[in-house]
Amino acid sequence: MVYNFSAGPGVLPEPVLREVQAEFHSYKQGVSIVEMSHRSETFATIVEQLEMRLRRLMHIPDDYAVLFLQGGATLQFSMVPMNLRATGRFAYLDSGIWSKKAIADAKHFGNVIVVGSSASSNYGTIPEWPEHIQDVDYLHVTLNNTIEGTRYTKLPDTGVPLVADVSSNILAEAIDVKRYGLLYAGAQKNIGPAGLTLVIIRRDLIVDRDLPSYLAYSKHVDTLLNTPSTFSLYVAERVLAWVEGEGGVEAMERRNVEKSGLLYDALDASPLFHAVVSGKQRSLTNIPFTTGDAETDRAFQRFAEARGLIELGGHRSVGGLRASLYNAMPLEGVTRLIDVMHEFEQEGQDVSYKNV
Ligand code: PMP
Repeated sequence: MVYNFSAGPGVLPEPVLREVQAEFHSYKQGVSIVEMSHRSETFATIVEQLEMRLRRLMHIPDDYAVLFLQGGATLQFSMVPMNLRATGRFAYLDSGIWSKKAIADAKHFGNVIVVGSSASSNYGTIPEWPEHIQDVDYLHVTLNNTIEGTRYTKLPDTGVPLVADVSSNILAEAIDVKRYGLLYAGAQKNIGPAGLTLVIIRRDLIVDRDLPSYLAYSKHVDTLLNTPSTFSLYVAERVLAWVEGEGGVEAMERRNVEKSGLLYDALDASPLFHAVVSGKQRSLTNIPFTTGDAETDRAFQRFAEARGLIELGGHRSVGGLRASLYNAMPLEGVTRLIDVMHEFEQEGQDVSYKNV
């Protein structure tokens, strides 16, 4: 049994993978899903179902549009400022490496005001919400910092539209959609395969700004502008059906609290490992940890890999170790990881393991 702790593309539900495998060669009309026109009735039904499921799961009100795009969360770093640009002044919270990249891209389209930053502490914490904010088109926040393992839990009342990157916490914890102007997420963690990006946007924020067609939100509302990533949309629909069947986002959040709690408790009690983040800012989905020694971290990664626990390396920019516990990671994966950590504490520090 292999447990995949990758931060993304991440683990998908086992029953969904089996269903996709069974249907792959011939889906309904005797052709594979990846051979089917995105304009066919069969495919249109899949997209409709996907949107309905997402709306039910996230309680998305009717005055929000749901867009299925490509280009990853990274393209949203540009599409957000391009499309929401009115005054050309944008506020950003600089809480991690992904928000730093979002800031860098937004600078191409206007004046970025960084209203809080934890860069000086290497993003070990998250900056506070700003107290007063006005005269900007929006305030951008990365709700869950995938690399650093921190997250925001409380939301302020901002007088400006709140834009959030929810790539690594969408469907993993409750998100109160109506508090936001726009939410975006790459699909490849909790939703499905890579190649699909979700944008949930309050309709009054969709304004025609004379942009090239693909880059304008207005061109994607209630329609498929061009050929989407059909396979990703199809798998995403199946994953959302699985989430609904398992009890919805509330059930996912309960499980994620339990799974991450077990791992944080084990890390807090460990004589060798420790969690990088402390206190309330700890992410439910991405848990960076370390022994404090790069070589021992690498040795543990190899030790764990040999026992079927894969992708435990930290992001290439920060190193260390990281366990991503997305919705499809079963509780057994976490208990197995904790057991293997204990095993390594007992015997793994023997120098011979460093050469495995
Ligand atoms: N934002 C966050 C919070 C992420 O975790 C990631 C990727 N892991 C990105 C943005 C970039 O996403 P993509 O690779 O889909 O462009």
